[in-house]
Amino acid sequence: MSYKNFPMVPRVIFGRGSFNQLNDIIAPKRLTINAPFIFLVDDVFRNNVWLTSRINLSYDDRIIYISAKEEPKTSQVDELVEDIILMAKERPSGIIGIGGGTLLDLAKAVSIMLTNEGESQNYQGWDLVKNPALYHVGIPTISGTGAEVSRTTVLTGPEKKLGINSDFTPFDQVLLDPELTKDVPTEQWFYTGMDCYIHCIESLQGTYLNTFSESYGDMALELCKDIFLGDTLSQKEAQDKLMMASWHGGMSIVYSQVGVAHALSYGLSYLLGTKHGIGNCIVFDHLEEFYPEGVKLFKAMKKRYNVELPQGICADLNEKELDTMISIALSLEPLWENALGKNWKNIATQKKIKELYKKM
Ligand code: NAD
Ligand code: ZN
Repeated sequence: MSYKNFPMVPRVIFGRGSFNQLNDIIAPKRLTINAPFIFLVDDVFRNNVWLTSRINLSYDDRIIYISAKEEPKTSQVDELVEDIILMAKERPSGIIGIGGGTLLDLAKAVSIMLTNEGESQNYQGWDLVKNPALYHVGIPTISGTGAEVSRTTVLTGPEKKLGINSDFTPFDQVLLDPELTKDVPTEQWFYTGMDCYIHCIESLQGTYLNTFSESYGDMALELCKDIFLGDTLSQKEAQDKLMMASWHGGMSIVYSQVGVAHALSYGLSYLLGTKHGIGNCIVFDHLEEFYPEGVKLFKAMKKRYNVELPQGICADLNEKELDTMISIALSLEPLWENALGKNWKNIATQKKIKELYKKM
């Protein structure tokens, strides 16, 4: 038996208002005056002076605003890298991602592709990255995905939706300022928050579970219950707690895996472009047979938040489209093995998965 030796985020700052310290934190990392810091910032903050006025741009530093309407694509990463190489006099000092999972994943991928040759699609998979990434910093503005701690950056490529999983993927620095999440719309808060909840259930109910994952998963799950079912937390407390739940939920899956909901949700995302948070919710709502307790609680949270999930999104798909989704879902073997054990192929059949998709 050989155990995996995982890297972790080496530096993290937590606290309301800690965003004010960003400039001081990155300043020592500037390589030369010709090596800029590139800030990849969610478009939603474009005219938001409260946030952007606190980013000091020196020399050739630049903010690139990016829409999070669509999830990151390999082609988008390659274009950004191209653009950065063309505009910068020297290889940048660092990449700072500010936003949700979409922007965090873009920042990770761009920092990897600035030091590795070729196209990002060639690195989708496990441990294919050869050179250390550029210094990269993650600053979440919405909580739940765990992308701030994870060892992957999920990209949709021409052939597959798959992460760049590598020891060079995790951020060198994360800044957790729960205040940055104050304007997240309620539904989005729920969807991305449920990503965290589902990470906990899939990790805790999985066959890969071990004490490392269990202890983080338990902590995150308790926090999620407080946030989404309790009625004693102020908004600020809920923001603080969901940011930490996201972190712990992410840590829990580092040493285990996600499961059925994520596998099926990847299929939806690949074919229909359904976003991760809402996609997971749509799927999880139909997974009683795999996660009975978890789904029961999920339905209670959904009710509590008055969330109506889209129905019938697979109703008009033809057989070929369904087959594409099924093959994307089934290709994620570690997820199924974690969820259902070594003999998962006997349970997760084409037929079974088609039935599930047809309910959605
Ligand atoms: P997101 O980044 O897609 O953002 C969702 C929406 O919230 C967007 O409209 C965005 O503009 C908005 N938003 C973000 N912060 C806001 C704020 N403070 N105020 C107002 N609006 C705000 O959402 P997400 O759910 O965090 O991320 C989903 C992505 O994360 C997917 O691409 C998924 O593949 C990825 N993901 C990655 C990992 C990982 O480990 N790398 C894990 C899970 C999910
Ligand atoms: Zn997820």
